Amino acid sequence: MNQAIKIKTLTEIEARPFKVYTHRHLDKITALDNLSEEQRFEMKVVASILPFRVNDYVIDELIDWNNIPEDPIFQLTFPQREMLKPEAFDRVAELMRNDAPKEELQAAIDDVRAELNPHPAGQMELNVPKLDNEPLPGMQHKYRETVLFFPSQGQVCHSYCTFCFRWAQFIGDNDLKFAAKEASKLHAYLKEHTEVTDLLITGGDPLVMKTKHLQQYLEPLMEPEFDHIQTIRLGTKALTFWPYRFVTDADSTELLELLEALVRKGKHVALMGHYNHWKELDTPVAREAIRSVRATGAEIRSQGPLLDNINNNADDWAHMWKEQVKLGIIPYYMFVERDTGAKRYFEVPLARAWEVYREAMKNVSGLGRTARGPSMSADPGKVEIQGVTEIHGEKVFVLRFIQGRNPDWVQRPFFAKYDEEATWLNHLKPAFGEEKFFFEDEFEAMKKQAQIAG
Ligand SMILES: *Cc1c(COP(=O)(O)O)cnc(C)c1O
Ligand code: SF4
Repeated sequence: MNQAIKIKTLTEIEARPFKVYTHRHLDKITALDNLSEEQRFEMKVVASILPFRVNDYVIDELIDWNNIPEDPIFQLTFPQREMLKPEAFDRVAELMRNDAPKEELQAAIDDVRAELNPHPAGQMELNVPKLDNEPLPGMQHKYRETVLFFPSQGQVCHSYCTFCFRWAQFIGDNDLKFAAKEASKLHAYLKEHTEVTDLLITGGDPLVMKTKHLQQYLEPLMEPEFDHIQTIRLGTKALTFWPYRFVTDADSTELLELLEALVRKGKHVALMGHYNHWKELDTPVAREAIRSVRATGAEIRSQGPLLDNINNNADDWAHMWKEQVKLGIIPYYMFVERDTGAKRYFEVPLARAWEVYREAMKNVSGLGRTARGPSMSADPGKVEIQGVTEIHGEKVFVLRFIQGRNPDWVQRPFFAKYDEEATWLNHLKPAFGEEKFFFEDEFEAMKKQAQIAG
């Protein structure tokens, strides 16, 4: 018997059928019966605009229904009125209350969605790689050593996060769906690009896919022509939203065996576990899933954004990082929430984000201090807020690139005027009276170049 299977039986976990609710089934969620009619109506209004999908493991095991609406997992998965601007909410609510004609309601919903800016960070224009001069829409190649791949069968998640910046992918807008048609294109591209060492498979959630589909993408990478692909990362929230994927689902054993086979072939395999709160680590099945994955030799690294109304305090972050280290997960990134979707509800000023990060760091051991951040995944690269300080009487943010479109930008400190309210890189101005940040001219030139080439 292989090791993965043995490890799986350490804790008895009963299988659970996957049962999921979308905005059409809000009335079927019995846990909501205790809410007022008005509260449920508000949820329906918001769920008509933002993606809503939640499964019964999240409802039954992760949410504390004695603590709503404050419960962080409730906030993470259930729509809240304040996620929309009051005008937008009122407009759609009014139409729904009056049973307005379908087209009229849809038009209002489309308007509100358009205002929520579905595609941040210039992903559409700048990052789509080409094969034989044909764009590969299911891929992004922004940083030299890492290719992102969005398999078409992985563009959903086991539940949806209310803050998700990928929400445009989930609401059926096909123009925005970066979906790959074929594994063969991915393989052909990677074969040509020997500078790429890391493949990051993401979504949605690629672990929504059946193992047999994952095998199609991953097994060929064990051949010698892909020796340059040293690291295979899978971006996933299944460890939180559906840990049964690794424990009792029909093809969970095959999934673990696939991870193990890749490791045995010398690949570094990492699950990039998306975590927002320590409560996600607290159930027996979540722990069993982590143990099973680690028993294959794959690593689990954790990343997630700082979010108002969910985890906007240092204690929760310190608690989460400590718990992760205890379970063998490596803390990797604290992100700043992107400039999109329900950001009005979740955004946290950069100055505050740095305080939360620093306070949390102070309270964990060295093994928990592997998380970098707060980091903004912005157009020119991943920019970290290193701190706030005063230089020659001017209060400034100290910043650095963790990743840059030009690798030479990485790790150079640069400075922005302190701004208590700024929530994103584009709100920041260079310090010391300078006109531009050091990378701006070069970045503009890159964008022009991409337009000409495109
Ligand atoms: C974060 C990110 C990566 C991975 O960067 P690492 O620093 O290697 O984790 C790759 N591509 C894009 C577009 C990213 O945002
Ligand atoms: S799991 Fe990730 S991709 Fe899916 S809804 Fe949450 S943030 Fe978005």
